Amino acid sequence: MPHALSLYAATTDRTLAFPPLTEPARAHVAIVGGGYTGLSAALHLAEGGVDVALLEAEKLGWGASGRNGGQLHSGQRRDQDWLEAHLGKEDARALWRMAEEAKALVMELIARHGIRCDWRPGLIETVHKQRLVGEEQDYVLKLRRDYHHDAVEWLDREALAARIGTDVYFGGRRDATAGHLDPLKLAQGIARAAAKAGARLHEGTRVTRISGTAATGFEIVTDTGGSSPLGTATLRADMVILAGDGYLSGIDRETETRVMPIDNYILATKPIGAGRPGGLIPNGEAVSDSRFVVYYFRPTADGRLLFGGGETYSRTPPADVAGFVRRHLARVYPQLADVVVDYAWGGAVAITLKRLPFIRRLRPGVYAASGYSGQGVALAPYAGKVLAEAILGDVARLDRFAALPCPPFPGGKLFRQAALVAGMSWYALRDRI
Ligand SMILES: Cc1cc2nc3c(=O)[nH]c(=O)nc-3n(C[C@H](O)[C@H](O)[C@H](O)COP(=O)(O)OP(=O)(O)OC[C@H]3O[C@@H](n4cnc5c(N)ncnc54)[C@H](O)[C@@H]3O)c2cc1C
Repeated sequence: MPHALSLYAATTDRTLAFPPLTEPARAHVAIVGGGYTGLSAALHLAEGGVDVALLEAEKLGWGASGRNGGQLHSGQRRDQDWLEAHLGKEDARALWRMAEEAKALVMELIARHGIRCDWRPGLIETVHKQRLVGEEQDYVLKLRRDYHHDAVEWLDREALAARIGTDVYFGGRRDATAGHLDPLKLAQGIARAAAKAGARLHEGTRVTRISGTAATGFEIVTDTGGSSPLGTATLRADMVILAGDGYLSGIDRETETRVMPIDNYILATKPIGAGRPGGLIPNGEAVSDSRFVVYYFRPTADGRLLFGGGETYSRTPPADVAGFVRRHLARVYPQLADVVVDYAWGGAVAITLKRLPFIRRLRPGVYAASGYSGQGVALAPYAGKVLAEAILGDVARLDRFAALPCPPFPGGKLFRQAALVAGMSWYALRDRI
């Protein structure tokens, strides 16, 4: 159960390891999945004095949390205009406030637990079509005026090109409170903090079935891959948190019809001096563009360019991931078309139909949080905390999220992929016209 072969896995602490669950056990709360959501829930529950056990099929941070682009955004996946139009101003404002809390939580976790994850402030949302410029400029004004978010500024095409080393974009919104970090180091940092707070963490322990109710208690059956009878052990718990995000499969129908994995890919070049004075992106910001299938990139702490772009909807990765992403990279940085790529990898981004997170109590004793639709670096640790808070008795934030519309994908779990291919192909085409 090693990590995916990514830059992050190659440069992280490989000694961090937790034992599988090999014997029958009991906990007040069982958590399925050891990414940001599950780890943050474990940390905050343990800090609240709750007896909690977390079960991770592979390594902690093995999923999206250890593979992502590392970009920490302000706001939700949907912008405030969309949220106001679809949910009303009050809910839109509440969601903005909670997203600000989410960003602040990541900063607090880093500071409080001394997590060394190469945090660097500054993120630019760039505009890839001239006709979107007016809209984006208005949005900067709106954030400043209606949301008192003075950390944003508009960069015109020339100023932007000087900052990011390409003139393919027509302008961008720079946000000084957003930024980027090494995602796997963040996940491992939260894991260490959770273990220190008393959470029992188990790697190499796949949950295969959950049965029971809040009245009878839950039985969480696991498989540790061993061939002996010790290969399976059952954890009994009073409550369960489902935190498997895009990797949860065959465990909970309700979640899996509303949340769908899409495979997204990243490459890391050889060190090219990115993020250094005189290099590409000399001020070190992360960049994310306005395409529906987003291009996102940033310099790494060791001067590489990390570039994410391109998705597949078939669940089969491209034979040559580096070549697949390189084609997208060359559209933004033609000068890097032949650059040496040291690492290329993919991971499952979990999306929902409306791109709003799926965070709720599914039924008595069973909670779920997933579907952050590409914005989980901030939202997933926060969702974990929100679930912990709810279990500890404060349901105010959970109720806000639970009220968000999160309909099932057309076709249910079986046929959602086919519907997605049709829908996403249309939007991917629109990116190009
Ligand atoms: C390529 C890529 C780029 C991304 N870029 C960004 C970005 O730049 N900014 C951003 O905000 N977001 C980004 N995201 C999204 C972000 O990474 C996720 O939203 C976030 O990490 C979700 O965290 P999580 O803990 O909910 O899920 P995960 O980190 O996916 O963790 C789920 C875990 O559950 C485990 N699991 C599943 N089923 C079981 C089971 N039955 N038993 C035991 N364990 C189980 C899995 O092994 C996995 O480790 C990106 C995602 C990907 C894939």
